[in-house]
Formats: sequence, structure tokens, C-alpha cells
Amino acid sequence: MKRSQLFVKTQKDAPADEVSKNAQLLIKAGFVHKEMAGAYDYLPLGLRTFNKIVQIIREEMDAIGGNELEMTALQRPEPWQASGRWDEGVVDVWFKTELATGQTVGLGTTHEEPIADMMRQHVQSYKDLPAYVYQFQKKFRNELRSKSGIMRGREFVMKDLYSLSKDREEHEKFYELSQQAYERVFQRLGIGNSTFLTFASGGSFSKFSHEYQTICDAGEDIVYLDREKNLAVNEEVYTDEVLAELGLDKAKLEKVKTAEVGNIFTLGTKYAEAVDLHYTDEHGERQPVFMGSYGIGPGRTMGVIVETMADDKGLVWPANIAPYHVYLVSIGDVDTEAEELVRELEAAGIEVLHDDRDERPGSKFADADLMGLPIRVVISEKTLKNTEIEVKSRTEENAQLVSRQKAVDTIKSLLKQD
Ligand code: ATP
Ligand code: MG
Repeated sequence: MKRSQLFVKTQKDAPADEVSKNAQLLIKAGFVHKEMAGAYDYLPLGLRTFNKIVQIIREEMDAIGGNELEMTALQRPEPWQASGRWDEGVVDVWFKTELATGQTVGLGTTHEEPIADMMRQHVQSYKDLPAYVYQFQKKFRNELRSKSGIMRGREFVMKDLYSLSKDREEHEKFYELSQQAYERVFQRLGIGNSTFLTFASGGSFSKFSHEYQTICDAGEDIVYLDREKNLAVNEEVYTDEVLAELGLDKAKLEKVKTAEVGNIFTLGTKYAEAVDLHYTDEHGERQPVFMGSYGIGPGRTMGVIVETMADDKGLVWPANIAPYHVYLVSIGDVDTEAEELVRELEAAGIEVLHDDRDERPGSKFADADLMGLPIRVVISEKTLKNTEIEVKSRTEENAQLVSRQKAVDTIKSLLKQD
């Protein structure tokens, strides 16, 4: 991609009312645009990163048997009335609106009720189970405060997977698989070492739910962390009794600020019973479907990655989710040589953003840092005289001169280390 053809404009400043670091940086780097608090547009660079995060999650959901679908955000009241969650006293973030016919609908905050209701048409017998369905779908929540940039949108995409199982035993097998899948997701997103499985409050069907909490100053949660055991306890369930039950030693726990990037939940038969989602078992008996739900916020995760990895020069992206791998700065009359290098890199599967504009090198370097691509390459007449180019990792101070012949291999191996 040529910078001259990319729709992006870096900004000197973020809007004065933007208080969150992730949004400030993403706006300055031209990744997102702010419409209002809690509502952001993803611009081409931001969308590339967002889509890469989505794709990693998708691959891991598919690997454990997930089937992708997409449900409407417009929701009928009836399934929600059946579960008791249509009431604003129970769910306080509803956006509700009226159809031209006068009928009231809700903009989905989540999809447990609609999915259970829909499944009545698709699940009748034990042969129809288990079923694992998921979506990347826009949720609408009238969050009271939305000051954390893309980490807390009033409109945001959620990956929500729902498991429908015959019984608890079948549910638990999948629940465990989902934990392994979540671990792989966060590892691949570059936050595996700062993200911890966390015991949180459960509900009527399990004592605990499990959250994935990433250490992050901009987060809104507090957890108590046992680094050795790789486990944490949300402050909401932090009691001596719970610590004893989990075999955790109070003296070893570290109190840290975190952001919840995902969670998994045993729902049991609550929603199935509410909307009458039953199946006929092997003995001809009617049984309620046993459900679980499994969320990840790709936008919140992207915000957390910005918050925890950025430095004073700008964004820093792990190679797996950077919008491009290489920011190529050409200086002087080197178009032919630059284009040849781009061809070689692209043939090796490396994505290049080529800053071909007629701008001062200093301003190109500043943009390269601000946008946070993993590797900066400079091609100029000066170094080409010795058939060399300059290569620098985003997080390193100094560039190295690399022989033109070894350019692709060097960049490849730097990307692998990332
Ligand atoms: P929180 O307590 O932070 O509001 P939640 O418990 O409401 O989160 P869920 O309803 O379980 O979260 O949503 C699943 C996932 O969706 C969360 O783990 C988070 O990653 C993401 N998420 C939740 N609310 C938002 C939001 N307002 N903006 C962006 N992502 C969100
Ligand atoms: Mg919430």
C-alpha cells in the first residue's frame, strides 16, 4: 500500500474532551475518529488491526467447533420479558426504540435470550446437540460513563459464543476447551503474559464465572493475582472463604488494576427454561438445554493493547495485529528501488506501507513511530551507494544497516522475534 493512496491523516492533537490514552493515540495516528463519547469510527488502519484481532479470535473459535452466524441487533421484547431482563431495573444499559408501527424493540446489549428463543426452531432432539454458535456483532449499551476510549463503547463489537449442551457434563467439557482457546487467543494477540484467568461472581448455576483480566492502568477492575499459579480473584468475590476454596495464599497475592477483555459463563438452564427451549433425550424425556456464554471484546482488547504497549512516540503493535508489518520510508529519487523492495517483501508475505510522499524525512519518521508498525525500513540514495538499506524495530533505539541482498531475510527474522 502506498501512503499517498491510503486514506489516513495523522493529527497533531486529539479532541480536547478525549481523556483516554488509547483513544488519544488512535485518533492522532489516524486509526479512529471520535463521533462522541463511547462512539468511534474505525478508519482504514484501525479497521485492519481490528479485523486481524477478529480473525485470530475466529480461528480459535472455529478450532473448538464454533459455527459463525450473525444475529440482528433489533430485539423483540418477549424473550427478554420471559427471562425478566427487559426491565430497566435489571438491565440498566438498554437502548430501546420504537418501530413505525408503534411496537417497542431493544437494541441488543447481548444475545442470550434471542439465541435461546431462535434455537427453539433448530433444537428438538438430543441429536441436535451440542451446538456451538458465535458471532462478531454490534452491541448497544447506554453505559453511564464512557471515558475509556474504545475500551468502553456505547456501541461495540462483541464476540459472543453460546454453547448449547445436553447436560452439565457435556457443558463442562466445552467450557474447558473454551479456556484453552481463550489462552491461545490472548497469547496470539501479544497479551498472553499479562492476561490472567480470574475467578469472578457466577450466578445461579456455578459459583464462579471466569474472566480474562489484563493488567492495565486504564482498566476498571481490581483483581488479586497469584503470579506463580497464573490465577486471579476479582475483588467482587475476594473473601477468606473463597481464597481457601481456591487454595490461594493471601500473602502471595498482588493487588492489580486490570481490564476485562473476555469472560466465560455457565448459564445452566436458566434461559432455556425462560423461553421454553427443550429437547427430547434418548429416553423420550423432555429436558431443558444447558447453556454457556463466552464473550470477548475485540475493540476493548485493541484498546488494552494500545494502553499497555504504546510509548512516548506513539502506538506499538505486535506483528500479528499491526495494520502493516513494515513502514517503508523512501528518501530521494529511489522509486524504482523502493518498488522492487516492496515486491520482494510482499512476495515473502510481509505487508508494507510505503511512505512515497514528498515529505521531509523527519515527518515520515514521526509518522512511522506514531503508527507503531513493527519495523521501519529506510531506503535512500545515500545507503544504496553501498547497496544497503536501514532497518529498525519500532521498540529499538538504533537502526542497523543491512545489505540490500539480505533485506527480506533480516526483516522476516525480526518479525518472527516480535
Ligand atoms: P464490564 O463489566 O467491563 O462492563 P461486562 O461484564 O458488561 O463488562 P460482558 O457483558 O460479559 O461484559 O461482555 C463481554 C465482553 O465484551 C467483555 O469481556 C468486554 O471485553 C467486552 N465489553 C463489554 N462492555 C463493553 C463496552 N462497553 N465496550 C467495549 N467492549 C465491551
Ligand atoms: Mg458492562
